[in-house]
Amino acid sequence: MTGLLPPEPDIVTGQVFTALTHRPEDVSAVAGQLSRLYDEPAGLALPDPSYVRRFIDAISTQDSGHVPDCFGGARLWFIQPDGSVWDCPSDRRIAATPAARRRTIQGADARLLFADRPACTNCTLFSRDCVNMWPLVLDMPRLLNARAAR
Ligand code: SF4
Repeated sequence: MTGLLPPEPDIVTGQVFTALTHRPEDVSAVAGQLSRLYDEPAGLALPDPSYVRRFIDAISTQDSGHVPDCFGGARLWFIQPDGSVWDCPSDRRIAATPAARRRTIQGADARLLFADRPACTNCTLFSRDCVNMWPLVLDMPRLLNARAAR
């Protein structure tokens, strides 16, 4: 009769985890599929190809990478529902923000809050949290303009 019982939940969870989890050996296959997509976009509007390089960099390691002249904290901010203002959504960057640089929009004047932003930031905390910011900040205007021009 035990053969009729459904599998234990932790066994199913383990099987799903194994089947769906990204592994280091998957990186080259992902890169190959993205390369095919860019070779044959089939009418899709795609982000700049540099995004693919950053994406592959991000999934290749758990270590932080270096990005010169990043827009985080200069052209991009991340505001949490509680009003906290961060340079970007990276948990590493948030954790590295000194208490003296922590800010909130609550009771603040945006003209003052964003008045002293740098032209860019050199950052050694690039990670998977960051990678989607590139199409959002740099490519979204191009993609929206391309759509508007159709
Ligand atoms: S953590 Fe990422 S998005 Fe944020 S400033 Fe650094 S590289 Fe840019």
